[in-house]
Amino acid sequence: MQLPVGQTKILILQGDITEQDTEAIVNAANSSLMGGGGVDGAIHRAGGPQILEECKQIVARQGRLPTGEAVLTTGGSLKARYVIHTVGPIWRGGKNGEDELLAKAYRSCLALAVKYGIKSLSFPSISTGAYRFPKERAAKIARTTVVDFLIDHSFEELRFVLFSRNDLELYERVWVKLANCS
Ligand code: ADP
Repeated sequence: MQLPVGQTKILILQGDITEQDTEAIVNAANSSLMGGGGVDGAIHRAGGPQILEECKQIVARQGRLPTGEAVLTTGGSLKARYVIHTVGPIWRGGKNGEDELLAKAYRSCLALAVKYGIKSLSFPSISTGAYRFPKERAAKIARTTVVDFLIDHSFEELRFVLFSRNDLELYERVWVKLANCS
């Protein structure tokens, strides 16, 4: 599914984030930046050891990455030139600031992309795997946060890359439903 928001093309598709040819892809990392399962593991496997080397240097310089923040490395051997690593919140029932922290993670990635002049960026569904954030709630936060950010900024393309058919259909529902309400 493709839809415009201002000057920005939003693309929602089913696929593997490591194969995307946008200028940057987002990694749903953890605070250690030392790799892990899910998207994180897939990105380090596909991108090679250079990404982990750069992550280690970042941690040596500034310590663990707090939840909601983002840092940039090169993309190693990925098609994408850069990887933006962010840490989404672990779901703990919803009363521990999870919504705002997830929104902050998306905003931090978008702000870093603007800072580096990145024109196209792919997002996975942050926090909805090992971190167990409810998927529909997360999809709505992703949508609202991105649309708010696009009031003052624009990109050539923002892609949401969903791993499963179910997640794709959920995203499509959320974007279409909210588009009809606004
Ligand atoms: P988190 O720890 O932030 O929850 P995960 O990587 O465990 O991150 O999961 C986030 C989402 O990414 C899940 O919906 C998962 O199905 C999906 N996912 C896992 N591998 C990939 C991949 N290679 N490309 C795109 N999405 C993926």
